[in-house]
Amino acid sequence: MENTSDRKILIVDDNEANLFSLAKILEKLNYPIHTAMDGMETLKLCLQHSYSLILLDIQMPEMDGFETLEHIRKDPNNKFTPVILISAIFTENQYKLKGIQTGAVDFLPKPIDPGILRAKVKVFMELEEHKASLKALISELATKNDQLEIEISKRKKVEEKLREAKNKAEKISDAKSQLLVNMSHEIRTPVNSILGFADLIANPNLSKEDKERYLKYVSNSSQNLLFLINEILDHSRIESGEFKINSAPCRLNDMIIELKESFDRIKAQQDKENLVINIDLPKDQLTIKTDPQRIKQVMINLISNAIKYTDKGSITIGYRLNKKLVRFFVKDTGIGIESSEVENVFSRFKRVETQDSLKSQGTGLGLSISQRIVILMGGDIGVESELHKGSEFHFSLPYIPAILSGNESQTITNEFIKDPDWSKKSIVIAEDEEMNFLFLQEALRSTNINIIWAKNGKEAVSKSLETEPDLILMDVKMPDMNGFEAINLIRKKKPELVIIIQTAFSKTDDELTQQKINYNDMITKPINRNALIKTMSKYIR
Ligand code: ADP
Repeated sequence: MENTSDRKILIVDDNEANLFSLAKILEKLNYPIHTAMDGMETLKLCLQHSYSLILLDIQMPEMDGFETLEHIRKDPNNKFTPVILISAIFTENQYKLKGIQTGAVDFLPKPIDPGILRAKVKVFMELEEHKASLKALISELATKNDQLEIEISKRKKVEEKLREAKNKAEKISDAKSQLLVNMSHEIRTPVNSILGFADLIANPNLSKEDKERYLKYVSNSSQNLLFLINEILDHSRIESGEFKINSAPCRLNDMIIELKESFDRIKAQQDKENLVINIDLPKDQLTIKTDPQRIKQVMINLISNAIKYTDKGSITIGYRLNKKLVRFFVKDTGIGIESSEVENVFSRFKRVETQDSLKSQGTGLGLSISQRIVILMGGDIGVESELHKGSEFHFSLPYIPAILSGNESQTITNEFIKDPDWSKKSIVIAEDEEMNFLFLQEALRSTNINIIWAKNGKEAVSKSLETEPDLILMDVKMPDMNGFEAINLIRKKKPELVIIIQTAFSKTDDELTQQKINYNDMITKPINRNALIKTMSKYIR
């Protein structure tokens, strides 16, 4: 049987004949055999090889077997190699003991019995084999262990990520549930009031004053509902990254004055007679490049809150140019905010729960939306407040001066607009919702304009082409064919017709231009009668 292992045996003896006969005895075992004739040669070989067994003669000139063995034990290659000492003279127990103490595993007396030698060598070599395979097993285990540890740490990371994702999902889900809870309460309140007062108004015995009062409640609740829906829409647009910021010139004094006028009316409707709204503006009006709608939206949020949380005293709104920033502010003398809560008011759904604040309704979304709008516009928002004294909310935006050509009208005032006489004019109103159509019909009744109703996109196209009206008021979302498709078809045949888009999505001009929608003007729902007539007047002569 051929031994294929790389295990080697070293035989050391100063007598060549002994060396030869030992090698001869072991030949049959088929292990490679190295030989050395003195201690120095042995150590030299040990430096180069790692042996599985060393047979070492004790009695040698210069360096005897014991000394050689001591050196072998210091050599890293053969530190643990089993060594069998061989001697003819040192056979007494004290030498055997010395040999064992120096690190030998066995002791063989000369003359050597070939059978015993082979049997012993075989046992030691087999032991070495076992040791080697054990070593290999251990190293394999160690590698597996390393791999396992890597795998475990990978899994731990995945688990960690999963846990994070789960927490995030739970937070989103919590936020969504909270939104739903808040919303259903907030929606139910104005809807109940609209339904309740609408019922009361139906009573034929109602006095004129009561009727007016109830109508005011219905109108207020409807406004609240609309505000709420817009808040929810804005919130979800911001969350999904669809919230767009535009850029247009904006005259700041005009805008603030307009806001004051509308809020004076709102304040009167809310029976806040003890509250005045002041404005604090620079003498020279600034015109900046910004998103006027968004600034208005933030100001409306802040002013609505100021009115909501202030029963008496004053609210001051305005702005100042401060180096390279325009700083807008809304100051009130209301309930104020506890210092520990100030930081939190911009968080989603955060409502400060005090007896005073809980009197008013709200979703806790307004300030969070305002903050995110201001950040999207490159600015920041903050508040200083003192409990029971009042608050000052402010936000700063980058100052980018803009030049406005004289006739641009950026704001629609609520001043009374005299009814134009459009009795010889006609309009196609494309609107699938009957209630919306009835409102538009009522809003335009006093102008005597001839109204043609198209109930879907297809009708909008056919009726516009048949009647060639002076103006088309085009809804966007309609069954059969949407407003944009209808516009494209009309434009192909009658490019000169005036088309005003009416939309609830408040798509921006830029977006519509990008979609290549060729329209003349746009008006956003809910439609204000004055705004409608003013916009139409631009095109009907
Ligand atoms: P809400 O819909 O509750 O008004 P907001 O996000 O607009 O939500 O405001 C968050 C909270 O900040 C409010 O619930 C209120 O407690 C507090 N807050 C906001 N504005 C004022 C203010 N002008 N005066 C006092 N507290 C205010």
